[in-house]
Amino acid sequence: MNEKVCCLIIGSGPAGYTAAIYASRANLNPVLYEGIQPGGQLTTTTDIENFPGYPDGVTGTELMENLKKQATRFGADIRTGTVTAADLKSTPKRITIDGEKVVEADTVIISTGASAKYLGLPDETKYAGMGVSACATCDGFFYRKKVVAVVGGGDTACEEAIYLANLASKVYMIVRKPFLRASKVMQDRVMTNEKIEVLFECNTLGLFGENGVEGAHLVRRQGEADEEKFDIAIDGFFLAIGHQPNTGVFSEQLELDEVGYIKTIPGTPKTNIEGVFAAGDVADPVYRQAITAAGTGCQAAIEVERYLLERK
Ligand code: NDP
Repeated sequence: MNEKVCCLIIGSGPAGYTAAIYASRANLNPVLYEGIQPGGQLTTTTDIENFPGYPDGVTGTELMENLKKQATRFGADIRTGTVTAADLKSTPKRITIDGEKVVEADTVIISTGASAKYLGLPDETKYAGMGVSACATCDGFFYRKKVVAVVGGGDTACEEAIYLANLASKVYMIVRKPFLRASKVMQDRVMTNEKIEVLFECNTLGLFGENGVEGAHLVRRQGEADEEKFDIAIDGFFLAIGHQPNTGVFSEQLELDEVGYIKTIPGTPKTNIEGVFAAGDVADPVYRQAITAAGTGCQAAIEVERYLLERK
């Protein structure tokens, strides 16, 4: 027989755990499935210094363990498992875990997050947490007065380069096209910033360094007759080539934007399906911070409580 729950939470980042804390304190006995990356994106960063309540900073792993502990303390049932199929339009909703078990749920909170895109270079893995980052707001502070590179030519890359230019001594932007894709205003800000040097028509071949990133091997006009290989000395390598929200399994049923983020009714975590709520980065292409994710996780749990009360 299938298991029946009143609140199912999918994903274990700050949004999922905060939803679990609120839902369990409201006696909704939530069940949370952790997904492929327990603890979410934050477990891939080192120190977090901008999450309120930690004046001395906290590691990503410790913060997530604390959130999990807090949710468990109030009775949230946290389980290992990944959602492989979902029927969100049925009543109750039917969620398949790991291709086998089916959980029936009155309400579902989707907090599956988004994953930063990487170039796919082996060196990105080799230097993970040792100079390679996909979040300037998270890690930029560690590069004060140092030299960094940002990969990408979109609005995110420009924003990150400008943010980093306030901290670092120099910022390279590695852009594969001969132009920036970003909005005009962002382009202007980048091009007039004395600390930013844009390397157009360049791709990254690899990174080097003894105990962390010390530089990058680049190629200009790859494959052309005048192709040129050269190195730059850097301390940090930031990816800003876009994020991919983890919505694949829900894409047939939920309204998504053109990138794949879940569309919610503005100012709420409500999706186009009643009883299905979205919290955190999976529905947030703009802010993408741990604290904003936690905030929307709280909103989602409160909406679940209201939804269930109205239908009692
Ligand atoms: P975008 O998709 O707009 O830009 C991605 C950038 O990364 C492009 O320059 C792209 O190059 C480059 N890129 C992609 N893959 C690779 C690769 N394998 N190697 C090298 N470069 C690569 O993503 P963003 O995250 O910048 O923006 C997403 C959306 O969010 C956009 O609509 C943007 O406008 C919006 N946004 C708005 C902001 C604001 O208004 N303040 C701030 C941040 C984002 P190429 O151009 O060659 O494809």
